[in-house]
Amino acid sequence: MERKESDQQHIKHFPTQEEFDACNDEIAKMFYDGPIWPEQALDEGWDEKYESEAKKLNIFSYSAQFDEEVQGRLSGISPRDVIGIYNRIKPCKCGADNPKALENECMGDYSFSIICNKCGRKVTRSMYDYDVRELNGEIDLCIRDWNSGFDQEEIDAAQEAENERVQIKQEDVIWEPLHPNNMLGNPVEGYYTLLFRKQYDGKIFGFKWTIVFQYEEIDYALSGDNINAYILFGKDYTDLEKPFSYPEPREKCMFINDYDTGCIDGVNDYGNFYYAYKTLEDAKEGALTRCARYGIDRDTIIKHDGEWKGD
Ligand SMILES: [Zn+2]
Repeated sequence: MERKESDQQHIKHFPTQEEFDACNDEIAKMFYDGPIWPEQALDEGWDEKYESEAKKLNIFSYSAQFDEEVQGRLSGISPRDVIGIYNRIKPCKCGADNPKALENECMGDYSFSIICNKCGRKVTRSMYDYDVRELNGEIDLCIRDWNSGFDQEEIDAAQEAENERVQIKQEDVIWEPLHPNNMLGNPVEGYYTLLFRKQYDGKIFGFKWTIVFQYEEIDYALSGDNINAYILFGKDYTDLEKPFSYPEPREKCMFINDYDTGCIDGVNDYGNFYYAYKTLEDAKEGALTRCARYGIDRDTIIKHDGEWKGD
């Protein structure tokens, strides 16, 4: 009986939608109407005089969650610094003055745009751009590109060229033949490659790509000789002390740890299924194109001789 009352009490305190919305409004109010952190309030950059001046400028912050543009405010930046940022933005190259600056936030992802009200020129930089190195770096880069007269097409082309430059190429990678159980007696049934980069904490992140041949099925459970698909699998490794490689295939099957304590699994451990390709070349390309997702590129990959390419 006692327990039931306690449960009811708990349920009673579960927030209603209205309470939830009110809470969100409270957070929005803190964000839009004043400093979020008490220590920011002590900074003179949050003085009323700066706040009222910032609210007159053509600079806005948009949050997808609250779906409104708030004038004179950038997330986590004092009104004094907002004024400083807006004052660095030059007139548009078409001659029009007073362009609109807009910060866009969605689920914690930030981008910054500058837009000409006359000719419609718009320049946008995102926190995920390749050359953003620090918090709010996209704001500085956007202003630099705008003031230099660049158009979005030129910025996108530079981004694409950089992506192309750093993407791992086939010549960076050695695909090892995959003998099941790492036994020479087993015919090659695919290829694998191990790629590594440094983590922020100095430890090693690794990824294994494995391409497995799928032979045609001439009857249920009876395989023919022709390969009709190249199946890509991937597996990641985090917090490694050092890169590892599998030993040369041997005649006899042995436990991994018997001959190399550095290996944390065997060649048979493919990991997750990614895609079934029609050709081997496509499967290899599919693997390397995905490397960027895991932060493995030409600037970060550890060379085969163990030397760092990064930093
Ligand atoms: Zn313009």
